[in-house]
Amino acid sequence: MGKNAGKLVIISGPSGTGKGTVIKEILKQRPEFKFSVSSTTRKPRPGEVDGVAYYFISHNQFNEMIENEEFLEHAQFVGEHYGTPTKPIQECLDAGQTVILDIEVQGAKQVMSKDVGSINIFLIAPSMEELENRLRGRGTDSEEKLIARLERARKELEEKIHYDYVVVNDTATRAAEEILSIIEGKE
Ligand code: ADP
Ligand code: 5GP
Repeated sequence: MGKNAGKLVIISGPSGTGKGTVIKEILKQRPEFKFSVSSTTRKPRPGEVDGVAYYFISHNQFNEMIENEEFLEHAQFVGEHYGTPTKPIQECLDAGQTVILDIEVQGAKQVMSKDVGSINIFLIAPSMEELENRLRGRGTDSEEKLIARLERARKELEEKIHYDYVVVNDTATRAAEEILSIIEGKE
């Protein structure tokens, strides 16, 4: 991936923090930014469109993509696989576009270790209690999966020291503005 014309922005942080919500707000304000659509073995939630939220693929397809080295990074999260296809990102960066990745911490570490000059942002909820409220409020996980996501969140929070910026998602509009000023302050 080497030197790029466009900016690669990693937004990471525990599940339920509000990454998807804040990224939507950023894209509303900057429709020219590109969201990197990941591939996942997770089943779609109601309303999630294939090719928009994710490419929803089988375990076999996922393994094939790994074998063909199609991923910039990939990781396992609460029993499912998630990965970032390299090609579309490379094309956007070559065209000078800003690309946003919504990825968990293991994958973020892989991208950071490649030293591609990414802007690395860790988004957190104001508290663990609020994180749990948000996950429960979203209502997309079984109790078992929800507990697994919260356990993972506690471990992921320890990873924030590896990031260039930590942003608190108190309100989505404020957090989006802070992230935009980080991205646009970095030339
Ligand atoms: P993530 O992508 O990090 O898993 P989501 O964007 O799906 O998180 O947000 C998790 C839940 O929290 C959703 O129900 C969302 O509406 C809610 N949420 C997101 N940001 C905020 C916020 N700033 N204040 C209150 N609720 C929020
Ligand atoms: P969800 O199932 O809630 O959509 O996502 C679960 C976690 O996987 C989130 O923390 C999200 O950021 C992360 N994720 C989504 N796509 C990718 C990806 O391509 N790679 C990695 N490593 N994590 C991803």
